[in-house]
Amino acid sequence: MAESKDIQEKLVKIRRRALELGFEGFGVAPPDVAKAGERFQQWLAQNFDGEMHYMKRGEAKRLDLDGVLPDVKSVICLGTSYFTTPRTLEYLEAPETGDISNYAWNLDYHDLIQPRLRQLEACLAEVFPGCRTKSYVDTGPILEKPLAEKAGLGWIGKHTNLLTEGVGSYYFLSEILMDVALPPSEAAEDHCGTCTACIDICPTGAIVAPYVLDARKCISYLTIELKGAIPHEYRKALGNRIYGCDDCQIVCPWNPYAVATEEPAFQEREGVKGLIELMQLDDEGFRSRFRKSPVKRTKRRGLLRNIAVALGNSGQTESVPVLTQALSDPEPLIRSHVVWALGELLGQGALRLFEQHLSGEADAEVLAEIERIKTV
Ligand code: SF4
Repeated sequence: MAESKDIQEKLVKIRRRALELGFEGFGVAPPDVAKAGERFQQWLAQNFDGEMHYMKRGEAKRLDLDGVLPDVKSVICLGTSYFTTPRTLEYLEAPETGDISNYAWNLDYHDLIQPRLRQLEACLAEVFPGCRTKSYVDTGPILEKPLAEKAGLGWIGKHTNLLTEGVGSYYFLSEILMDVALPPSEAAEDHCGTCTACIDICPTGAIVAPYVLDARKCISYLTIELKGAIPHEYRKALGNRIYGCDDCQIVCPWNPYAVATEEPAFQEREGVKGLIELMQLDDEGFRSRFRKSPVKRTKRRGLLRNIAVALGNSGQTESVPVLTQALSDPEPLIRSHVVWALGELLGQGALRLFEQHLSGEADAEVLAEIERIKTV
């Protein structure tokens, strides 16, 4: 009895420290992911992970947390809100402006959350001298959403994001594994009910069944994780989204209740959405514009690939001069998407531009794109 009171008091102390550090969500899960592990394996077997090879590489550890921290007894799950401004689908009506997923509006969350995790680990070491811990902010082989659900932070919605009553789904997850058995929190319950708003709105039909995402179709995957050409079948659906997509979260009836964070790191950065201007960024321009931003993950080649698609979808011929200039971009991936964009804006009228501006030996992707334009 005295022992249980002692551990409860220690837990209160740790929770208090987590809140002081800026974590809004706190809960403890046992390190058991057996059920979620089965679903994860079925998901992998259908290749829904696409080119995210780190998913398969980390499979064994995701299924058995002992492989991550030997003798792990508890997982402390933490949530950090990044919600700043209520969002609607109105952004789709401004095709000259690129849309960036809310989580990437300013600074890279890893840089903010990792130091906080270290400070919380220091607190754990004080409270439980000699304990071993390991922390992650979505960088490790952890099934973080099922663990957060068990820890009571929220339930996994039909769109597969974690969702909390009164808080919504705009928050980052992070975890500390430790070799001390803490009393587990009460698991969260599913409150999606009969709602299917996220499934119905998804522009590419990526939520192939409730709670199942085919990442290969998801705009977040296509614009961030995919390194090569964006498959033609999804280019129109990308619209003006140049880094991720929030539509399934925007329409979720739980998100209007989200409480905005005042964390300066997540407030919207200026000058990152004008498509014509962004299309002209060189390497140095990209580096300085997106310094310490999550957007740097795509590198310049990925972002300008996405911007070319968005300009092709914009219907705005004002972008033709900038796209024409980009026909001589040193990066073949950008060139081939620019050819597509000009084809969308000018139809076969773009062929004359290619003759004038593509130098001698065009690469295979560019030639294939030109042939495609000739046939439509
Ligand atoms: S939109 Fe509806 S179904 Fe989708 S996660 Fe939100 S509540 Fe659940």
